[in-house]
Amino acid sequence: MNVATNDLSTTRPETREFLAAEHKNFINGQWQAAKSGKTLEVYDPATGQTVSHVPDSDAVDIDEAVKAARQAFEDRAWQNMKPAVRERLLHRLADLMETNVDILAELESIDNGKSAAVSGAVDMACAIDCMRYMAGVPSKLNGSTLKPSTPFMPDSELFAYTNHVPVGVVGAIVPWNFPTLLLCWKIAPALAAGCTVVLKPAEETPLTALYIAKLASEAGFPPGVLNVVTGYGHTAGAAISAHPGVDKVTFTGSTEVGRLIVQAATGNLKKVTLELGGKSPAIVMPDADLDIAIPGAASGIFFNHGQVCTAGSRLYVHKSQFDRVVEGVADVARNMKIGPGLDPTTEIGPLVSKIQQERVCSYIESGRESGAEIIAGGDTPDGNGYFVNPTVFVNTNPDMKIVREEIFGPVLVVQPFDDLDDVVAQANDSPFGLAASIWSKDVSTIHRLAPRLRAGTVWVNCHNVIDVALPFGGFKESGWGRENGIDAVKAFTETQSVVISL
Ligand code: NAP
Ligand code: MG
Repeated sequence: MNVATNDLSTTRPETREFLAAEHKNFINGQWQAAKSGKTLEVYDPATGQTVSHVPDSDAVDIDEAVKAARQAFEDRAWQNMKPAVRERLLHRLADLMETNVDILAELESIDNGKSAAVSGAVDMACAIDCMRYMAGVPSKLNGSTLKPSTPFMPDSELFAYTNHVPVGVVGAIVPWNFPTLLLCWKIAPALAAGCTVVLKPAEETPLTALYIAKLASEAGFPPGVLNVVTGYGHTAGAAISAHPGVDKVTFTGSTEVGRLIVQAATGNLKKVTLELGGKSPAIVMPDADLDIAIPGAASGIFFNHGQVCTAGSRLYVHKSQFDRVVEGVADVARNMKIGPGLDPTTEIGPLVSKIQQERVCSYIESGRESGAEIIAGGDTPDGNGYFVNPTVFVNTNPDMKIVREEIFGPVLVVQPFDDLDDVVAQANDSPFGLAASIWSKDVSTIHRLAPRLRAGTVWVNCHNVIDVALPFGGFKESGWGRENGIDAVKAFTETQSVVISL
């Protein structure tokens, strides 16, 4: 089958104008080319065509951005800004994102491959929601008061309170699967806390980060408060994580790069938050409503073409329902409409890059070679885009690479289980612990099972449901710390105790 091509002429004039613009880094409120003069190409993954160029920045550009962020932090105009004023700025940025939501969604679609319609309704809606939620926090960020009873000062009257002081300069490094949403998860709480930021988007998807910088500039953020530098991870990204002037790195990406970030952070012992990979189990209990569980499990893996850190990539089905669920999910996979992101009827777009397409295909090959059976997909459609047909494997065993490793594509492995203990053991048999879902109508089963799953989020009769008010993050090798919720802002502060002898 040949996939239709992406038609950029259907996009808004502003989108095309932005693609054609000469892009620069946003440092200290100014647009600046990489000092080396180098640029990197931005591709449309639906066609493989170059659609734009952005700076290919290195340690020199990062150093300049960190110095600008440091100065903006130290001159205290930002830190001392009244919380309500900082809130208004963040709301203004959210307003501008809302006004330009269609352009943002089109840029994201062309850059990443995802559906523009879904990007507007999900990615951008959640990104704006995050900006607004975090905008509301500065005026509510209070410490506590207490009366110390220090034993060695029995005759002194003491009074103490705590302050949440911004941690300083934050380096934010994000991946390509939800570029705008994940950058908002970082910059919104960091800015709300009073930090200044150097943001590096993924090399594959830099466009919306540059667009957000443009909007932040229009919103009136002081120079140096938000800096956006584009470039590769091994150059620009590594320079952020090793920079002695960065106080905290907040990273979303692979577990492999997460380890490199931790090693690089040891120089100045900068604080590190990591949101890493996953291999999340979806568990269909014998009593599950299959009319909900089958489409739910399918969307749990195939949403965003499987490029979701919480993708339900391991499906465990009670043996009594196994054949029905497998056939139902395979049927969904076989009937999904593959196409470019700008076509509103597309259900599965291209993967983000040729490398990613090859990586996913090599996992499919490894599954095939190790004896697993493919009952849907397993190949790529014809054409230039980086598409992979939604794929379902059965007859796997727990040692296979396709069961153990994060594939980050539309590939599902389905395994049967006998009872609760069996499925707990299988579900937890992973180095990851990001998320899990349970499909059941039995309230006792749900409450027994959920706490036994080693996962940062457990969904019941749904999958991939995120909310900015809910803490998000991983157990085990899926990360350190939590994003979202009010505590996400506190994570960009140091708690300071002030003790006063009265
Ligand atoms: P990645 O290769 O780890 O890249 C993530 C970011 O890190 C990119 O901006 C990348 O830059 C940069 N980077 C690469 N090497 C670096 C280094 N040595 N030092 C500093 N930065 C470096 O991940 P990806 O392939 O883009 O994204 C997929 C991964 O992200 C998956 O494992 C997925 O599970 C994970 N993810 C996790 C969450 C979560 O919240 N837990 C959410 C989404 C994705 P370049 O791309 O420019 O090289
Ligand atoms: Mg990468």
